[in-house]
Amino acid sequence: MAKEYEEAIASLQKLLSEKEELRAEAAAKVEQVTAQLATAEANGATKPYDATERLKSGFIYFKKEKYDKNPALYGELAKGQWPKFMLFACSDSRVCPSHVLDMQPGEAFVVRTVANLVPPYDKTKYAGTGAAVEYAVLHLKVSYIVVIGHSACGGIKALLSIPEDGSTLGTDFIEDWIGIASPAGKKVKADHGADAPFADLCGHCEKLAPY
Ligand SMILES: [Zn+2]
Repeated sequence: MAKEYEEAIASLQKLLSEKEELRAEAAAKVEQVTAQLATAEANGATKPYDATERLKSGFIYFKKEKYDKNPALYGELAKGQWPKFMLFACSDSRVCPSHVLDMQPGEAFVVRTVANLVPPYDKTKYAGTGAAVEYAVLHLKVSYIVVIGHSACGGIKALLSIPEDGSTLGTDFIEDWIGIASPAGKKVKADHGADAPFADLCGHCEKLAPY
C-alpha cells in the first residue's frame, strides 16, 4: 500500500511538472480526497474493529508471553486445579478479579454475577450459582470464599432505581436478580434517607450489598 501511494504521488508530481495547466485541477482533487479520508477516519471506516483479530492476537500474546514461559505452572495445571479461593465478583468488564488481585491461573475459582450478588439456596431459580458453590466447596475444597464489591456498579444503581410505588423497571431478568440485594437497598435508604444524593446511596449500598 505504501509503495502504491508513493508511486501515485511520484506520477502526479511528474505529470504536474510536465503540464503546468493541470495544477488547479489537481489541487481541487487532492482537497476532495483529503475530505473523503477525514470523513472515513471520523467514521472509523479506515480501521474497522475486528473482534476475531482482537481475540486471536490476545491468545497469541498469552501463548507466547505467558504459557510458553511458564511450562512448570501450566504443566501442573494440566493435571488439575486446587484453588485456595472461591471469588464472587461483578460481571462488570472493569473489575476482573484475576486482574485487580493479580490472581494466577489455578488460584481462584471465579463466579461473576451482576452486582456480585450471591443468591440464596434455591434449586430452581439460582441453580447456576448453586452448582458453582457446590463444586467449589465439596469437590475443590476451597479454603476461602470471598465476595468482591466495587464502586460505580450498574447493578446497584439499578437496585436503587426501582420505584418505591411498586412499579417496575420493565426488565426481563435484571430486576428479579438484583432484588436479591433489596434488604441492603432498604437498609441504606433507612440509614441515610431515601432523598440523600443518589451517588452516596449507591456508594453505601455497594459496600453493604455483598453482605
Ligand atoms: Zn457491578
